[in-house]
Amino acid sequence: ATPMARPRQEDTAVPEAFTRFDRQPGFRQVRMIQEGAQRFGVENPFFHVHAGTASAHSEIAGHPVINYGSYNYLGLSGHPQVNAAAKAAIDRYGTSVSASRIVAGERPLHRNLEQSIAELYGVDDALVMVSGHGTNISLIGHLLGPKDMVLHDEYAHNSILMGIQISRAQRFSFRHNDMDDLERLLQNHRHRAERLLIAVEGIYSMDGDYPDLPVLVDLKKRYGAWLLIDEAHALGVVGHRGLGIAEHFGIDPRKVDIWMGTLSKSLAACGGYVAGEKALIENLRYLAPGFLYSVGMSPPVAAAAQAALKLLKAEPERVAALQARGAYFFDRIRALGLDTGSGAGIAITPAIFGSSLHAVRLSSALLQRGIHVQPIIYPAVPEKQARLRFFLSSTHSQADIDITLDALRACL
Ligand code: PMP
Repeated sequence: ATPMARPRQEDTAVPEAFTRFDRQPGFRQVRMIQEGAQRFGVENPFFHVHAGTASAHSEIAGHPVINYGSYNYLGLSGHPQVNAAAKAAIDRYGTSVSASRIVAGERPLHRNLEQSIAELYGVDDALVMVSGHGTNISLIGHLLGPKDMVLHDEYAHNSILMGIQISRAQRFSFRHNDMDDLERLLQNHRHRAERLLIAVEGIYSMDGDYPDLPVLVDLKKRYGAWLLIDEAHALGVVGHRGLGIAEHFGIDPRKVDIWMGTLSKSLAACGGYVAGEKALIENLRYLAPGFLYSVGMSPPVAAAAQAALKLLKAEPERVAALQARGAYFFDRIRALGLDTGSGAGIAITPAIFGSSLHAVRLSSALLQRGIHVQPIIYPAVPEKQARLRFFLSSTHSQADIDITLDALRACL
């Protein structure tokens, strides 16, 4: 039989909006942002190129800047021991493991890293994946199904929401850090689901605040739910030794069902982890799609995370310095009369201006004075919540902060 001739594009009645990339809503939105920046005479605040390692100091367009845009909280990205570990791993194992770990991609440094992470939390086991964002998607997407439910903080990270979408579980959000609102949802909906997951973050990266862990542990027990805590911004940041939100509250981490976190922030690498009971980790190790159908973690990346973890444990003074800088910065910025929202004086401090344009202009003016701080604008946050967001690092000095506050004062 002769194959049917396919109609040419111009013969079909398909509107161009369905075929042309420059007609897509996402592209139009990007254009609007770019044209808006031009119209208001501000520089595009996105995709600034940093010339080297970015911690308290960095270099943009040939100019040195005091940098508040990176989450190199403990200054470990670029640390000689971390770099040396990554280089040694390349010499021994190459740059790629060239297969999923379940087939030919397993190397000793994978399990070593996982055991170190499990030890940190005092739980049975852990699993690492090549992306933090992908970890939440694979974890939640694999663990839950359509008969299940997720109750999540309204500010939960995009990766948590994407995981829920993939799982097809029902979801409801509760007001930010509002445990009464969460309990109301539990009362109203617990009976309508088989498994129920409460998903929160250890530290919220837009606001620099945290949930009431003791209440969460109590609620999850009383309502027969699992508790997932995303520690992306909590590990290395809170707790005496930087062990995260459980240490901050003095709670046994084994009371939390699922610890999730990233290797990309305090741990100076790239990727995500899940830590918890053996039965959870084994399930993921054999079946979670983002693990099973993805290459094993690159050797230098795993080795860098392991070296950073070792430094985190050996040098708690880094954590203490970060916490001291965070508190100092917070006090001074509040003394300027700025709105720090629900910020709690830790390594992330927002300064809320309530106008995207104002935030972008201010960020641009600060950059002229050698201060790099990212504006967070609509739609990442509601327009009235548009802000500058300052990430502190243990490597910021008090002098850096004082210079920054002088610059801010001059720009306000
Ligand atoms: N969870 C949270 C709370 C995050 O803030 C982020 C990223 N900033 C991720 C997950 C994703 O992690 P990664 O960037 O390492 O992929």
